[in-house]
Amino acid sequence: MFSNKDISHFANLETPFYYYDLTLLQNTLQACSNAAKVYNFHVHYAMKANFNPAVLEKIRSTGFGADCVSGGEVKKAVEIGFEPGKVVFAGVGKSDQEINEALDLDIFCFNVESIQELEVINELAGKKGKKAKVAIRINPNVDAHTHHNITTGLDENKFGINSWDLPACAETLKSCSQLEFIGVHFHIGSQITNLDVYKNLCVRVNEFASWFEERGFLVKVLNVGGGLGIDYHQPDEQIPDFASYFKIFQDFLEVRPNQEVHFELGRALVGQSASLISRVLYVKNGKKKNFLILDAGMTELMRPALYQAYHKIENISRPETEAAMKYDVVGPICESTDCFGKEVELPETFRGDLIALRSTGAYGEVMASHYNLRENVKVEFSTAK
Ligand SMILES: *Cc1c(COP(=O)(O)O)cnc(C)c1O
Repeated sequence: MFSNKDISHFANLETPFYYYDLTLLQNTLQACSNAAKVYNFHVHYAMKANFNPAVLEKIRSTGFGADCVSGGEVKKAVEIGFEPGKVVFAGVGKSDQEINEALDLDIFCFNVESIQELEVINELAGKKGKKAKVAIRINPNVDAHTHHNITTGLDENKFGINSWDLPACAETLKSCSQLEFIGVHFHIGSQITNLDVYKNLCVRVNEFASWFEERGFLVKVLNVGGGLGIDYHQPDEQIPDFASYFKIFQDFLEVRPNQEVHFELGRALVGQSASLISRVLYVKNGKKKNFLILDAGMTELMRPALYQAYHKIENISRPETEAAMKYDVVGPICESTDCFGKEVELPETFRGDLIALRSTGAYGEVMASHYNLRENVKVEFSTAK
C-alpha cells in the first residue's frame, strides 16, 4: 500500500523504477530469522532472487548465509561480507574457473549436481592441495505443483543427481580423496504455495539421508532448498507464514543429533518488498480491446513474459476510483509477450497515470535487460516511516 506521501513523491520522479520498501524487507527478514531460530534451522538467502546492494546488506546483517548459483554470486557474496563459511554454491553448470575461485575463497560447500562434476571438483581441489566440502543435490522426483517452468525436482528436470545414479555417486565419493561429503541437498521448485508438497519432500529427504548413512557416510547437513511462495494476489498481506513452513520440517524430517537443517529461501524473503512503478504513455481504445501502454516492459520485469506470471496491477494515481474498465496492460517492447496482464480491471485510466506492478522484489530487477537498447532500470528506496 502506498501512502499519499509516497504517491506525491513518485509524481516528481522519472519512471519506470523499482521502489523498495526497506522497512518491510527488514520486518520480513526478522520474521524469518525468528521463526528459524525456534528450531535452530540455518537459512541461506538465494542471491539470484535479488542482488541489489541495499537488499543484500540487510540480508547479510540479519545473519543469513548466501546460496549462490554462479561464480559471480559467490564472489559478490564474499566481497560484501557474507562469511565464506556461510556460502554455498549450487548450479548444474559450474565452470572450472568458477570452481577454482570458490575453492580459493574456502566456501562452506558445493552442492554438486552430477557425478562428472564430483570428479572435476576433486581434480581441481587436488591441484590446490585442498579438500572441497560437497553435498549431493538429489533430484527427489517430488512434484512441486507449481508452474512447469519453475519446477526443478522431477525426473525430467536437468537439476541434481537422479536416484538411480546414487550407487555410482557413492562409489565416486569414496574414491575421491579431495572431497569431503557433508550431506544431501534438494531444491524442488519455486513459488510453492501448497505446503503439503514439503511433507512429501521431507519423506524423500529422510529416505535419501538414510541411504547414505547405511553406506557409511556421515550426513551432517540436510539442505532442503527454498521455493516458499508468496501471495501475488495480496501484496498488502506481505509477510509469509514462516512459522508454519518451518514447522512442517520440524514435524516431518528425522533430524539426528548434531545434524543441521539448511534452507535456501529467495522469493519469500524479498518478493513483497518492491513494486515496479511506471507511467501510462498511451491509452489505445480498440474495437475488441483497450490497451494501456506503459513505459515499463519485459525489459524491466520479465516474469510475465517468461512464465506467464501474475503481478497485481494498480492505478495509484486514482486510488479512490472504482474499477470500471478492462485493459490489456502492455509494455513498449517489440514482442507480443510484452504484456503484464490481460483484461485487467482498473479505473478509467489516462496518459500520465502512475501504475504499480506489485510484488516485484524477487526475480524483478535482477532479470532486467537491455533488449531494444533500453536503459538501466532505475531504483528508489522508501524513506523511513
Ligand atoms: C533459486 C534457488 C533457490 C531459491 O528459490 P526461491 O523460490 O526463490 O525460494 C534455492 N536453491 C536453489 C538451488 C535455487 O536455484
